[in-house]
Amino acid sequence: MRAMVYRGPYRVRVEEKDVPPIEHPNDAIVRVTAAAICGSDLHLYHGLMPDTRVGMTFGHEFIGVVEEVGSSVQNLKRGDRVMVPFNIFCGSCYFCTRGLYANCHNVNPNATAVGGIYGYSHTAGGYDGGQAEFVRVPFADVGPTIIPDWMSDEDAVMLTDALPTGYFGAQLGEIAEGDTVVVFGAGPIGLYAAKSSWLMGAGRVIVIDHLEYRLEKARTFAHAETYNFTEYDDIVVHLKKITDHLGADVAIDAVGAEADGNLLQHVTATKLKLQGGSPIALNWAIDSVRKAGTISVMGAYGPMFSAVKFGDAMNKGLTLRMNQCHVKRQWPRLFEHIQAGYLNPSDIVTHRIPLEHIAEGYHLFSAKLDECIKPIIIPTAS
Ligand SMILES: [Zn+2]
Ligand SMILES: [Zn+2]
Repeated sequence: MRAMVYRGPYRVRVEEKDVPPIEHPNDAIVRVTAAAICGSDLHLYHGLMPDTRVGMTFGHEFIGVVEEVGSSVQNLKRGDRVMVPFNIFCGSCYFCTRGLYANCHNVNPNATAVGGIYGYSHTAGGYDGGQAEFVRVPFADVGPTIIPDWMSDEDAVMLTDALPTGYFGAQLGEIAEGDTVVVFGAGPIGLYAAKSSWLMGAGRVIVIDHLEYRLEKARTFAHAETYNFTEYDDIVVHLKKITDHLGADVAIDAVGAEADGNLLQHVTATKLKLQGGSPIALNWAIDSVRKAGTISVMGAYGPMFSAVKFGDAMNKGLTLRMNQCHVKRQWPRLFEHIQAGYLNPSDIVTHRIPLEHIAEGYHLFSAKLDECIKPIIIPTAS
């Protein structure tokens, strides 16, 4: 089969690989019909995630058609059109029985730190991902769900990570009726978090980024008030000014560790005189939220981070909430919102790229060329 393969930082290509076999009676093999590149894949692409091995296939956002099932699989059969959550989870451990699928204890030798994720380095279990013609899906009776007939392929792909994660980000913010919510980052997660904030009763939604085309999307897709932080000496002071000098009630960090990889790190290192790679969006959130406010962290961080303004967070009495999203738990509500027309997930998809051209796809997305927001990958076998 053809599959995306990691060859080292900033080097990916399409190679011939064996179709993955059933390794356990609970496995399914899925023929991928669409996959997406995620902002968090760029951390892998940039060589920033520990234990990302040459030869690995990325891709934790994918849908497809069941090709083959193991002998004990009961809920799926060959030919089913399925969506697969990015979390790999067993469904029966301490955490899974509490709905904490992202924290499953049985799917990763590093389970005390992180659960299992498709195509996300050996830190997250070493599973190959779905940017390929075929992918092995463990615990096939637990994670995948048959896509409803009324749902489009592109909406279904957005439901495997980006939309549930954005929605979860807004949920963790514990938004009360009329609250002012500020979202840092206008990538897919930030856009979905902003849109979801309205559904949870926000009275005002503000989105901060530096890419004008993404702020435009935040206005048209999420109906948010937007500010470009490069136009202000200090975006935190500006946010205070426009929120009665108290600050927002809720802040959502949809940026994470890497903060765009270039411009924000450049700003961090040069303009703000902080070390490169400090958690700038998180510190902006801590500074700009009001006392006793809530911060929801959705951006992806590595295991270690320094220079978080933890003392300020403590003295302000902030609530900090975070986790990887338990994707499947979000689906019933999100299906309702999509069917009711409140959410049109595929509105943020900007590029459809054949698998053979995935190297260009990564480059385009990483360099933010051609107003790229969300690229979808189409394998040739589909
Ligand atoms: Zn993702
Ligand atoms: Zn589990």
